[in-house]
Amino acid sequence: MLIFRKPLEGIERPQMPADVVIVGGGPAGMACALRLAQLIDAHNAAHPDSQLSKENIYVLEKAREVGQHCLSGALLDPRSMNELLPGFEKEAPLDAKVTKEAVYFFTEKSKFKFPITPPFLRDHGNYVISLNKFVKWMGSKVEETGITIFTGFAGSELLFDGDRVTGVRTDDKGVDKEGHQKSNFEPGYDLQAKVVILAEGPRGSLTKQLITKFDLAKNANPQTYGVGVKELWEVPAGRIAAGEVIYTMGWPLTTKEYGGAWIYGSPGSGPKDNIVSLGFVTGLDYADPRLDPQRVLQEFKKHPFVAKLLEGGKMIRYGAKSMPYGGWWAIPPVAGNGWMILGDSAGFLNSARLKGIHLAIKSGMLAAETAFEALTKDDSSAATLGAFQKKVESSWIKEELWKVRNLHQGFEHGMFAGMFHTGLQMITGGRGLRNRYRAKAGYEHMRKLTDLPADGGPEALLLGPAKGDGKLTFDKLTDLYHSGTKHEEDQPAHLVIHDTNICNTKCVKEFGSPCQNFCPANVYEMVEDASQPNGKHISLNPSNCVHCKTCDIADPYQIITWVPPEGGGGPNYDGM
Ligand SMILES: Cc1cc2nc3c(=O)[nH]c(=O)nc-3n(C[C@H](O)[C@H](O)[C@H](O)COP(=O)(O)OP(=O)(O)OC[C@H]3O[C@@H](n4cnc5c(N)ncnc54)[C@H](O)[C@@H]3O)c2cc1C
Ligand code: SF4
Repeated sequence: MLIFRKPLEGIERPQMPADVVIVGGGPAGMACALRLAQLIDAHNAAHPDSQLSKENIYVLEKAREVGQHCLSGALLDPRSMNELLPGFEKEAPLDAKVTKEAVYFFTEKSKFKFPITPPFLRDHGNYVISLNKFVKWMGSKVEETGITIFTGFAGSELLFDGDRVTGVRTDDKGVDKEGHQKSNFEPGYDLQAKVVILAEGPRGSLTKQLITKFDLAKNANPQTYGVGVKELWEVPAGRIAAGEVIYTMGWPLTTKEYGGAWIYGSPGSGPKDNIVSLGFVTGLDYADPRLDPQRVLQEFKKHPFVAKLLEGGKMIRYGAKSMPYGGWWAIPPVAGNGWMILGDSAGFLNSARLKGIHLAIKSGMLAAETAFEALTKDDSSAATLGAFQKKVESSWIKEELWKVRNLHQGFEHGMFAGMFHTGLQMITGGRGLRNRYRAKAGYEHMRKLTDLPADGGPEALLLGPAKGDGKLTFDKLTDLYHSGTKHEEDQPAHLVIHDTNICNTKCVKEFGSPCQNFCPANVYEMVEDASQPNGKHISLNPSNCVHCKTCDIADPYQIITWVPPEGGGGPNYDGM
């Protein structure tokens, strides 16, 4: 029987007072910590008699090391970094300045270059970076300020007092598969905080608790997501310039699926090679439950243009991560009694530009300014923290997202409808046919097998597991090996399935167990079991998980909740 992870009950937990707890040490969380330190330092210099301390400000990061769970394209729009640390270019790890960009429409064997690059995909002035390296560097700046980053500590539960968030419980360590304490057991801490800031990235687990508890999303569009599957390649020098940026649309997707690919060039480690970051983002609102996003990337690489680029090269890293696509209308309230939500957790991502890092950083800065006000006033009620909502609405975050507020919704009925709406939205400042386009949650688009062609129809090449040739294309397990993912094996499963009966009796029959396909890490498996009505039962390999959150998002019955495993476990996204 599967035992799922949850904080142990009936045990005494160490209590720790905190001024501010930031959950998640990605770009949003790190920017928040840095800005808060700057404000406190400036205050202390100006007010020697009323010093504020940074001692009780903590960042919790579930990865073993800062940046290890950070995966992105990545192109950095430097706008917010210029505000946070003017002159940051001199010391930040930036791989190359964008020198050249192109957008292609792919058919199976050919490609058409867009005669002009659409304005939202113009990247001159941006930098090719590894988010993993960039966040590591941000983390070192945070540590220089004296703020403590607890790596290997996950926020596993929010603490409440009525309608107020009062703190964060960290993960219990040393719990075995059956949920019993091992000899190395250490209970999670209760960090009793004045301000809790959620910067957990897409589909944050504490953010989900908060949104559910207070029904925060009731007036927002349902958040929609894409999952990006990425590989890093070393290729012979000369194949792609450092700073060259390529976006593609079309094949291998059909006109019904939403998504596209990126290819970015960076200098290699030696004179004889280049690094290519390439990946495919598939919208998690496709109809066919057999579609496999990892397979989509493998098919994409078979295109003659991509195959030639990668020929003679070597895949060196793999990973996957979701991203929130829903835009402005899908953002819930971002501040309340004792809490604020930042970055991807809130949905601050511009899906037209495939960019969220600069918005995550800016949201972190605005939240820091609000938290600083709360500390100086000693009031972290909704009345004070509500200023964050207003700051976002009067900042360039809103200005940027407002122009693309209806973009993804326009594609709900396929590519042609999407292009029509995009064109119209571009000339009406994002409005299109009406001010607010509604949306359905992505999983609601998934159809039952009986409604789909048995042979897959035009989508056939996207369905089921990729076999891989071991050179250009890979099966999931080979790819997964390059994610460096590792977990403590003897712990309860962190993929909480609320009713496994549904998996074994309904889902297997109706949808053919799509978890086996959409999970890019082979975590879900239907194993033979004669005692089950459909001859199979669900089994989990949680140690494979790369924390992409796709299962929590795409499961058609919404019975999977991703919760953090024991802190320190997860992928190792060095250089991603
Ligand atoms: C495939 C892909 C390509 C992209 N390409 C680009 C691009 O080229 N340019 C761009 O600007 N944007 C890009 N984005 C978007 C960009 O990466 C995000 O918008 C950005 O990383 C969001 O920052 P964040 O700090 O909000 O979240 P994240 O970067 O996700 O960081 C969240 C951090 O919180 C930690 N965490 C989560 N939950 C917990 C918990 N409960 N306890 C403790 N720690 C926790 C995570 O381990 C992680 O370190 C891309 C995204 C993807 C998926
Ligand atoms: S189990 Fe869920 S979160 Fe983990 S890799 Fe698979 S889909 Fe992603």
